[in-house]
Amino acid sequence: LIQLFIPLNFLGVLYREIKQALADLERMFNLLHVNREVSDAPDARPLQVSGGEIVFEQVGFAYDPERPILQGVDLRIAPGTTCAVVGASGAGKSTLARLLFRFYDVNQGALRIDGQDIRSVTQESLRKSIGIVPQDTVLFNDTIAYNIAYGKPGATQSEIEAAAVAAQIHDFIQSLPQGYDTVVGERGLKLSGGEKQRVAIARTLLKNPPILIFDEATSALDSRTEQAIAAQLKAISADRTTLVIAHRLSTIVDADQIVVMEAGRVIERGRFDELVSAGGAFARMWALQSGEEQDDARAEELVA
Ligand code: ATP
Repeated sequence: LIQLFIPLNFLGVLYREIKQALADLERMFNLLHVNREVSDAPDARPLQVSGGEIVFEQVGFAYDPERPILQGVDLRIAPGTTCAVVGASGAGKSTLARLLFRFYDVNQGALRIDGQDIRSVTQESLRKSIGIVPQDTVLFNDTIAYNIAYGKPGATQSEIEAAAVAAQIHDFIQSLPQGYDTVVGERGLKLSGGEKQRVAIARTLLKNPPILIFDEATSALDSRTEQAIAAQLKAISADRTTLVIAHRLSTIVDADQIVVMEAGRVIERGRFDELVSAGGAFARMWALQSGEEQDDARAEELVA
């Protein structure tokens, strides 16, 4: 009987491992809103990235033809600069990022990277050139080293550690009894949201893409964490063309360009100071958020 038990037990373990891996993959695809209908053109060429200029040209898009989402969006992100997109929930911020990664094709206009319409290039080359730091990072139920190395298959331990240092997570990892060999648990449940995001940042730094999409977490953060995110964003976006989907306005003070979206249209654009002094929608959002922060600080003082 024992001869039968060992292989059966092994099969059970294998089954659970495969199921977990499939669940992770499924969740990743859901998160990334993969649309399997997008396919390579028969004459698709690899994307050639020189500086990484991104241009949205009169872009119109609807998930459902009855309900237009983006309308006439014009946006140019110069090579190596950071553009932050802000706006109310549902304004279309994440949709811009999904179109750039080509989960969907635009219905009107065009989206170009260094002058190439992204519909004319291979999806593989496009996705290799873009790194995403998502809001809610999916980690594999494997070691921290594996999760970081996922950004660059075959990465060496010293490359992994250098990326972790840059993402400010190396000291934390070293403080764990098993260091880089710590298994993160199903979906990374053993790590906090901030730690998971830093693992995702390390993964992206290792991938070293010329273009970056940074999807900031929506959850309320204390001001120290906000400052840490701003610093990480600065480190990771240096020399890359970066699109930030921003929820906390204090993290984008230094962005080269801020775009304010409302109901699928760009209603304002400029640098932080320009928008605050313009006294429009952005200035109102800023007044609201900084008021909330002062209230939070007062509440913290009262508790302390
Ligand atoms: P948030 O700040 O809440 O993340 P957002 O500005 O990023 O919002 P989007 O996710 O771009 O907003 O969504 C824009 C609109 O498109 C919303 O009204 C949303 O309901 C709709 N939408 C998003 N994804 C889909 C989808 N897969 N199918 C149909 N409609 C969708």
